[in-house]
Amino acid sequence: MSKDPETIVKTAREAFNSGITKDYGFRLSQLRGMQKFMENNEENIVQALKQDNKKSRYESYLMEIVHIKKAISATIKNLKQWMEPEKLPKPLLFITDQLEIHSEPYGVVLVIGAWNYPLVITLEPFIAAIAAGNCAVLKPSELVPTCARLFEEQLGKYLDTSCFHVYNGGVAETTALLEQRFDYIFYTGSRGVGKLIYAAAAKFLTPVTLELGGKCPVYLDDSADLEIAASRIMWGKCINVGQTCVEPDYLLCSQFVRDKFVQAAKNVIKKWYGKNIAQNDVYGRIINDQHFQRVSKLIEGHKIALGGKTNPQDRFIEPTILIDVNPDDPIMQEEIFGPVLPILTVATPEEAIEFINARPKPLAIYVFSSSPMEQQKFIKGTSSGGVCVNDVIMQLTCEVLPFGGVGSSGFGAYHGHHSFKTFSHQKGVLIKNLSKLDEYVQQLRYPPYTLKKLNT
Ligand code: NAD
Repeated sequence: MSKDPETIVKTAREAFNSGITKDYGFRLSQLRGMQKFMENNEENIVQALKQDNKKSRYESYLMEIVHIKKAISATIKNLKQWMEPEKLPKPLLFITDQLEIHSEPYGVVLVIGAWNYPLVITLEPFIAAIAAGNCAVLKPSELVPTCARLFEEQLGKYLDTSCFHVYNGGVAETTALLEQRFDYIFYTGSRGVGKLIYAAAAKFLTPVTLELGGKCPVYLDDSADLEIAASRIMWGKCINVGQTCVEPDYLLCSQFVRDKFVQAAKNVIKKWYGKNIAQNDVYGRIINDQHFQRVSKLIEGHKIALGGKTNPQDRFIEPTILIDVNPDDPIMQEEIFGPVLPILTVATPEEAIEFINARPKPLAIYVFSSSPMEQQKFIKGTSSGGVCVNDVIMQLTCEVLPFGGVGSSGFGAYHGHHSFKTFSHQKGVLIKNLSKLDEYVQQLRYPPYTLKKLNT
């Protein structure tokens, strides 16, 4: 499927200009193609995720395969309705007219993905781009070469190959792609590269969605069930060994809560993984040596309340809790993206809110509290891509909620109907009539301009 970027974009643009993707039947057939791709390649996907990300079969289904299958079937189910022009209520001046919003495909769109959820991060926006009637180029991360190759070798068997393309490679290849003019760019990845994508898009005034990362804080108070809170927070740290954009990055709580939380976390980790977690095959590994060294270094010199063991041979890092962490420590300066939870103590929820608000806007904020008043303090008193109360990560599995960042965690959002809208220009359409009655009302805007007309 891969050719040079110029040929790919030219082919896709010609296909788009032919009008083929605007048709409901065509879009449906391509989504069914995606469905078939998933059905026929389920085992290949499990093996690719194992090879590239060391994900267990269970985790691959739970966090990737089920999610994508659900996204495809929900899109197929709703496509007709989503494509319908939206009728709007009419203000008095337009009472005899038609007012509509048409979801118009942008044209040729580019989807660039990160490595941590190779399927979800690339295919979910790709499916939305198809549904919205675009031609699309998919650029998976080079850090997951087996998944990237699978997409390149297989997707063309199920999709129209003039409209849909996979282009693989790293920085050089992505840079070459970005020299082409796209009509929309959907990027998932780090903040630093996000700025490069934004700058490249600006050259052509191409609109973008930037799904970035950052540090997602958790606040926990003593009204919460600490055992449930520990299970949910530690699950968020352990799933994909913390390599999740909305992983609970650090915990803010009182010293009293901290001590109880650490004990509950110890219990739950032992219950889940037994004594020898390194031998437990559902616990994952860090993606590569560079990230292993980075995360291991963040642990160094800290007081360890849980875990702390690492093994460079297979890039193993034990679920780890650090206490007495200082806000100026390196671990508090960057997204951890690993199974390490620093805890910082705060005396009040107001202090936690002040701490959060003094830092870049997170992709998600988590609040564990049984008090609706405390929950609302965080929902209303902070800014973030989203908030999840009494759980972590689950907000992004709920397709009716928009998922995306704000400020330095990115902009734009997707999932469910929001994905379709993201890949569609929302075109305002006013359809007037040429009746004599309507024209009579329009006299007000034609000269001669008199005071009498103005006061009508
Ligand atoms: P990354 O930015 O290094 O890579 C992402 C993509 O950009 C890859 O396809 C890569 O080939 C490309 N790329 C890398 N360097 C480039 C360059 N110089 N020029 C052009 N393209 C380049 O990100 P990553 O390490 O793959 O992913 C981890 C980051 O992604 C974390 O910060 C995480 O929080 C974030 N993330 C965000 C979401 C979200 O939905 N908001 C989801 C997953 C990951």
